[in-house]
Amino acid sequence: MYLNILFPSIMALYAIYANKLTVPGVLLAWLFGFIIVTFGGYVAFGSVALTILIILISDRIKKGHKDSKRNVYQIISNLLTPTLSIGLYAITGSEIFYTMFYAVIACSLADTLASSIGSLSKEKPFNVFTFRLMERGESGAVSHLGNIAALSGGIIIGVIYYIYTGDFKGFLIVSVMGFIGSTADTILGTLLQAQYRCHKCKKVIEVKKHCRVKAKLIKGYAFVDNNMVNLLSNTTVFILSYLILL
Ligand SMILES: [Zn+2]
Repeated sequence: MYLNILFPSIMALYAIYANKLTVPGVLLAWLFGFIIVTFGGYVAFGSVALTILIILISDRIKKGHKDSKRNVYQIISNLLTPTLSIGLYAITGSEIFYTMFYAVIACSLADTLASSIGSLSKEKPFNVFTFRLMERGESGAVSHLGNIAALSGGIIIGVIYYIYTGDFKGFLIVSVMGFIGSTADTILGTLLQAQYRCHKCKKVIEVKKHCRVKAKLIKGYAFVDNNMVNLLSNTTVFILSYLILL
C-alpha cells in the first residue's frame, strides 16, 4: 500500500520539479496514477510512467514546440481512458479491460512517437486519405517514418503486456491498436480540429490567438483542440479493442 502512494507521488513530485504540470494537473495525475497502480499493479503503472516519460522527452524533440506546461485537460485526454479501463477491470474482474488498458496506452505512445519522430522526417509527407504528397505541417500529413514510429510505439507496449501476461492474442491487439489509434488521431484531427488564420502574419495555426491578436477560425470546430482529438482517438481505441476482445 505504501508503494501505491509512493509511486504516483514520485511521478507528481517529478512533474512539480520539472515544472511540467499545473497544480490541478498534478493532483489529477496523482489520483489517476494511484488508481492505476492500486487496481492495475506495478506493470500497468510502469507502462503509464514510461509513456509519460517519453511524452515529456518528445516535447523537447518536437521542432518549434514551445516548452509549455501541460494542464489538467491534457492529463484527462491522456489518462482518462486508461484509468477507466483499470477501474472497470477492478469492478468486473474481466481481463478484457486489463488488455484494453494497454491498448489505449499503446495509442498514446504510438501517437506521441508518430508526431515527434515523424516531424524529423526528411521526405515529403503524404495525405492520410488520398496518399498524395503534401507539404510538411499540413493537417492530414503522415510520413513513412511517422508510421514506423507509431508501429514501434504500439509494439513497445505490446511487448511489455506479452512479457507479463503471456497472452499472444492480446499482444497483437495492443500492438495494432497503437498504430490504428495514431492513424485515427490524424484522421479525426484533419476532419474536426479547429484551425485558425492569424490576421497579422497570415499563418495557419491551431491556437485561438497569435501575434497577440485573435485569429480567424477557418476549419473544424472551435471546441475541438488537440486534447479533444487525443481523447477521441483514445476513445476510438477503447471501443474498438472492446469489440474485438468481446
Ligand atoms: Zn501571427
